Amino acid sequence: MKIGILEGDDIGHEVVPETVKIMRAAAKVTNLEIDWQPIPIGRAALDSLGTTLPSDTLSRLEALDGWILGPIGHQAYPKIPEAVNPHPILRKHFDLFANIRPVRSYPGIPSVHQNVDLVIVRENNEGFQPDRNVVAGSGEFRPTNDVTISVRVITRAGSSKVAREAFELARSRKKQLTVVHKDTVFKLGCGMFVEECKRIALEFPDVMMSEAIVDTFAMRLVMTPQKYDVVVTTNMFGDILTDEAAGLVGGLGLAPGLCAGPHRAMAQATHGSAPDIAGRNIANPYAMIMSGQMLLDWLGRKHDNQAALHAAGLIERAVNKIMTERKTLTGDLGGTAKTSEMGDAIAAAILQWAE
Ligand code: ATP
Repeated sequence: MKIGILEGDDIGHEVVPETVKIMRAAAKVTNLEIDWQPIPIGRAALDSLGTTLPSDTLSRLEALDGWILGPIGHQAYPKIPEAVNPHPILRKHFDLFANIRPVRSYPGIPSVHQNVDLVIVRENNEGFQPDRNVVAGSGEFRPTNDVTISVRVITRAGSSKVAREAFELARSRKKQLTVVHKDTVFKLGCGMFVEECKRIALEFPDVMMSEAIVDTFAMRLVMTPQKYDVVVTTNMFGDILTDEAAGLVGGLGLAPGLCAGPHRAMAQATHGSAPDIAGRNIANPYAMIMSGQMLLDWLGRKHDNQAALHAAGLIERAVNKIMTERKTLTGDLGGTAKTSEMGDAIAAAILQWAE
């Protein structure tokens, strides 16, 4: 299995090495062979190679099964053509159409709700986002000073791909999938999304699919998030609902993510590069570590690789242990541990189970 390491910027240089440390430990215990490939990106690449996204980086990623991308601090890049924000380019180039974001509460960790364990699968490359729905120009335009028009793109291909990803995920969990939409108003756009979800549902008779209108769902999510397992929705609804859901269980430090495509996946936490706390070894590595865990789980399911699935399971168990014991947590989780101490504790738990 070939996996790239792209540290990104700022706290990326701290949380990505912890993630790799833990994935290495799990791979060792499960005899999973991983060919690790460090690949330049971001500010470090700009300083050493003259661009934040070297052409070599894209071609090297082509040869991989997946990679870990640390947070990108593009707001601080100099305003020059060589300093592009690389991650939207990666999402488009590799057709990473599904943005998978789990939301989970832990007892003892400050949280609006307890007993939450759901995953939102957001369509990632079309919808209302103006940078993603046209090949040239913008999906938003202003024909007169007083009128703005935004274009939303929904395709059968995009909808069915993300639906299949969500059904597969639901099959590996509690076998419940909620399709969130608003076909009462967007009869054609959301209507097409729902039609495709129903079509894919025929391939997954073991998964129970239900539907929810987005506004009602937003309310139910706040009141009873415990009722949901896997949720699939279009790009902008997903954008809003994933942040709402993360807020229910403790915020950014606890929000991992995976961008999945037809052949490859990219582990990418929801949080940014947090320059305010970078270089101090205090960032919470949870979101990045669990993004790496998701990558192994996805690769395991994609390639029917039992060792990868086992490794992903071990990481999840070890993270649960450390989060439940609450002895080695970073400051944002109420602890006093350094980033590397929390990483060490998780890696040690995994290695201990090998003995
Ligand atoms: P972006 O727009 O790039 O996503 P952002 O503006 O949302 O970035 P972040 O960099 O995510 O901002 O940081 C927001 C706040 O959350 C900061 O105060 C930061 O210190 C904190 N934060 C973000 N990630 C972590 C983390 N892993 N551990 C601890 N604190 C974090």
